[in-house]
Amino acid sequence: MLPASFEYHRASSLEEALDLLSTFGEGAKVLAGGQSLIPLMKLRFASPEHLVDVNHIAGLDGIAEADGVLRIGSLVRHNALAASDVIGARYPTIAAAAPQVADPIVRNLGTIGGSLAHADPAGDLGSVMLALGASVVLRSTRGERTLPMSEFLVDTFETAISADEILTEIRVPAPSARAGGTYLKLERKVGDFATVGVAVYLVLSNGTIERAGIGLTGVGLKNIEPEQAEAALAGAEPTEERFAEAARLAAEASHPASDVRGSAEYKRHMVDIYVRRGLSTAFDSARAA
Ligand SMILES: Cc1cc2nc3c(=O)[nH]c(=O)nc-3n(C[C@H](O)[C@H](O)[C@H](O)COP(=O)(O)OP(=O)(O)OC[C@H]3O[C@@H](n4cnc5c(N)ncnc54)[C@H](O)[C@@H]3O)c2cc1C
Repeated sequence: MLPASFEYHRASSLEEALDLLSTFGEGAKVLAGGQSLIPLMKLRFASPEHLVDVNHIAGLDGIAEADGVLRIGSLVRHNALAASDVIGARYPTIAAAAPQVADPIVRNLGTIGGSLAHADPAGDLGSVMLALGASVVLRSTRGERTLPMSEFLVDTFETAISADEILTEIRVPAPSARAGGTYLKLERKVGDFATVGVAVYLVLSNGTIERAGIGLTGVGLKNIEPEQAEAALAGAEPTEERFAEAARLAAEASHPASDVRGSAEYKRHMVDIYVRRGLSTAFDSARAA
């Protein structure tokens, strides 16, 4: 099917893009990699009257760590995340997830900002950013605000972003000395959305767990942060029994639906297995750090 007709605007600066969004309001959509928006428009699930293309705006595609924060520009493509030296060296949860997003063609075009703004509960990066305690920066002609991921993700395909805002940057707290993490994804075949995905992040201090972050993909109406599982780990000894308890709590916090990828019961069981396995891997990498 062909999309409904729309007017295309190629913004050459952030200010121009924000002015366009402010003018057209709900009638406009930001176009980044187009990997989710264009299929939706072809199916007529979305019919924006105006597309504001942000791909040619300079300065939205950087990855840099400074002053205890990793700043990822919203236009960073999945492949650039996967190839980043700083992410490969210091952010194992992102490094593990990025090459598992979709397939090589989608990874060449799809952006981190588009993934988070799209808010697909089967999106991998939302869970990663929940586990890492990341925030997003939203800009409009009215100013700038920063929201934690947990507040940004509202519901299925719904975020706290307003029609006149652009997600410009993702901010991830830099890891402390003894931190580790990973992303485990169960998929039917390479390139598929997750049947179940689990992001894990652990910070160790004096032999105990200082902080634990967990994000769940594909097992609820949005990416889930199982807070009780995280709380069960914080301040505890990193033992197999504690990991098993946290995994049980994470599975309890999941609300998967039965579909072609498996039954709800199977998916919940896989959350339990993957959280336990992920915590063990994260612990090993934190201990070795
Ligand atoms: C075949 C296929 C397989 C896929 N598999 C996976 C997978 O396994 N895991 C996974 O996580 N994802 C998967 N995806 C989705 C992919 O990751 C997309 O790249 C991503 O969802 C959207 O990024 P985009 O840059 O293409 O955004 P677009 O399609 O351009 O935009 C998506 C939405 O976000 C909004 N938006 C985009 N950028 C901004 C911004 N900076 N500020 C405000 N709003 C913005 C748009 O208006 C639109 O509503 C798959 C996609 C395809 C086509």
